[in-house]
Amino acid sequence: MSDVTAALIWDPAVTGYRFRPDHPFNPKRLELTVSLIEAMGLLDGERARMVSPRVATEAELLAVHSREYVEAVQRFSAGGDPGEAWRWGLGTDDTPIFPGMHDVTALVTGATLRAAELVMSGEVTRAFSIAGGLHHAHRDRGSGFCVYSDLAAAIAWIRREHGARVLYIDYDAHHGDGVQGIFYSDPEVLTFSIHESGRYLFPGTGFVDELGEGDGYGYSWNLPLEAFTEDGSWLDVQGRVLQDVVEAYRPEVIVLQNGCDGHALDPLTHLRATTRLYEETVRQVCELADAFCGGRVVAAGGGGYAIWEVVPRAWTLVWAGLSGQTPPDRIPQAWLDRWQGEATSLLPPNLRDVPQEFVPAPRREEITATNLRTLEALRRQALPLIRGWGLAF
Ligand SMILES: [Zn+2]
Repeated sequence: MSDVTAALIWDPAVTGYRFRPDHPFNPKRLELTVSLIEAMGLLDGERARMVSPRVATEAELLAVHSREYVEAVQRFSAGGDPGEAWRWGLGTDDTPIFPGMHDVTALVTGATLRAAELVMSGEVTRAFSIAGGLHHAHRDRGSGFCVYSDLAAAIAWIRREHGARVLYIDYDAHHGDGVQGIFYSDPEVLTFSIHESGRYLFPGTGFVDELGEGDGYGYSWNLPLEAFTEDGSWLDVQGRVLQDVVEAYRPEVIVLQNGCDGHALDPLTHLRATTRLYEETVRQVCELADAFCGGRVVAAGGGGYAIWEVVPRAWTLVWAGLSGQTPPDRIPQAWLDRWQGEATSLLPPNLRDVPQEFVPAPRREEITATNLRTLEALRRQALPLIRGWGLAF
């Protein structure tokens, strides 16, 4: 155990964020993850501890959402006429309305706010709000399984209470369009999203030329990856761009979205990462945070639809990295026995994937070369726009 301290924000009540029994955004994955973290002995109660969430206040929601939108969610939540829901991006197949949706999403948002409070007060170095990461929620519209933006609310709170410069990093397979949009004209929040190209995947945005607007021009970075990208190329381009961004921007805290739907087994996307991506990304980000941000990382969950084979393992590795622990590879038999009967697929016996078990992607060289060209295009366009870049620090 290193000298970092970390908090896992958790209360079973967050699993109430559930649209329908058959909806792919399944909170069972959270329960599986927390039970795996516990089974592997990665919560020692002191340096790696569990902390309860709180409920976001209305003012905290209104800092990033319009009043009309929050009032509409409150109405639908209480059983109001759903006829107008489409105006707010709700009542769709992706983001249906459900009873109590305002209250439980305010709790999920409060979980990420709690993570931000613990990190910014110095109580812990890093915190992980696993139920959070709702990166598609917009100022006045729900989208893509997301009702309120816990991430934006936490970033707005950090800005208001601490005035700290925030670097938001999002390596979910989908573009982090909601968070990008909410801070699109804000130069004190730099959003970086790396994701499967919008040419192939929802929400169809996140291209290199989406650079921000007004004062925020140059503070929105996107690196769209080719479909079938593997974690070798992913980690390479991601590591290089993060080094550039951190050196040029000098953030004071990192907010990290850990959607794990870029894994090769995820049913909703076309990327081909293994668990190595989650372990290595957290290592990359924590190293930069240690060098530039006093270690501060506020982490959240995100997408992840292979709920049995991938999510518990990926997020256990994320938690281990955040809390400075190196878990053994073998998953305790008791955990496998507890869940295998309910699982819809065979549970892998090890925390980390065995790379040889994954068939190499066809066109690997071509994909790698295209990703490198995209990286160069992003650096060429975005780096000179960061104020102070090129000056002697
Ligand atoms: Zn996603």
